[in-house]
Amino acid sequence: MENMPYRQLGNSGLSVSLFSFGSWVTFGKQMDVQPVKECLKYAFDQGINFFDNAEVYAGGVSETLMMEGFRQLGLGRNEYVLTTKFFWGIENRLNFRNTLNRKYLMQAIDGSLKRMKTDFVDVAYCHRYDPNTPIHEIVFAMDQMIRDGKALYWGTSEWPADAINAAYDFAVENKLHRPIVEQPQYNMLHKEKVEKEFKPLYAKMKLGLTTWSPLASGVLTGKYMNGIPADSRAALPGMSFVKDEIDNRENQNKVEKLAAISKKSGISMAHLALGWCALNANVSTVILGASRIEQLKENLNVLNHLNKITDLKKELDQI
Ligand code: NDP
Repeated sequence: MENMPYRQLGNSGLSVSLFSFGSWVTFGKQMDVQPVKECLKYAFDQGINFFDNAEVYAGGVSETLMMEGFRQLGLGRNEYVLTTKFFWGIENRLNFRNTLNRKYLMQAIDGSLKRMKTDFVDVAYCHRYDPNTPIHEIVFAMDQMIRDGKALYWGTSEWPADAINAAYDFAVENKLHRPIVEQPQYNMLHKEKVEKEFKPLYAKMKLGLTTWSPLASGVLTGKYMNGIPADSRAALPGMSFVKDEIDNRENQNKVEKLAAISKKSGISMAHLALGWCALNANVSTVILGASRIEQLKENLNVLNHLNKITDLKKELDQI
């Protein structure tokens, strides 16, 4: 698509689309291969080149489905940036759950590549921080993954800034591949990490950000202002944290303020929320989620409103 902007992924030579597409909750739970394929095609046709996945999503099924979709569409591995993430594990055994130990990481990447029927992922993430594995073990394992050709870059997700800093310093000192990107939650309800905690890292290591839940799981679309629709994420089993976000009085105030700006400007709440994330220059890509293609179509229309949303930025920051 002509109006899709691209940004560098942190201190790397890789360009990624400002909006990207991820598969959490949706692939394998809400969508099977046909709708997955339609969404991937639409995303790709709109200029999206970054696709987010994780070992744990639908217990490995999300990885299988995404790659099956790409294969059915006839897309080559040079046409998109593919990611996966490791931490929680999908095997119920000692050393393979909630860990970043070397044994788990080296075997988990092999499992992902087998499911995805590909030789490498472009970015492998450590999905959470593991205080029980020494930082040198994690950095050596991620470096090894890259040296083995199984991943091209590595990053972290929801790590504390000091752990990212320590991993970066260790990699530099020992001439190992450095982490280039962090994947934090970033939306109008959760902005502390991106706007405060990681600040020193943008200057020091040019940390890239692939941010998640730009709509706070849909809360920022306003869809929950009058209760929980039966076909929504908050109504799914195991998603009680979305209900907590909805019930939170402070969040309700923010959603109401966003609704007021939306009414005044004529720009939908979803577009305001998505555009606001993209206006942060430290964000490399805003990962979109959609349970059906109509949402993806609607959400990507934000590209037609970015100029107007820029004018509203100060007001949106107040929320
Ligand atoms: P969002 O906050 O954008 O939520 C997406 C969900 O909101 C959709 O699945 C849909 O849910 C609802 N929705 C989307 N658009 C609309 C719309 N226009 N109108 C009404 N409802 C809408 O993003 P996600 O939470 O899905 O996160 C995006 C991606 O980020 C994930 O797919 C994953 O790849 C990544 N991620 C990474 C994490 C990490 O720890 N690293 C954690 C979480 C996500 P429904 O229709 O079911 O209500």
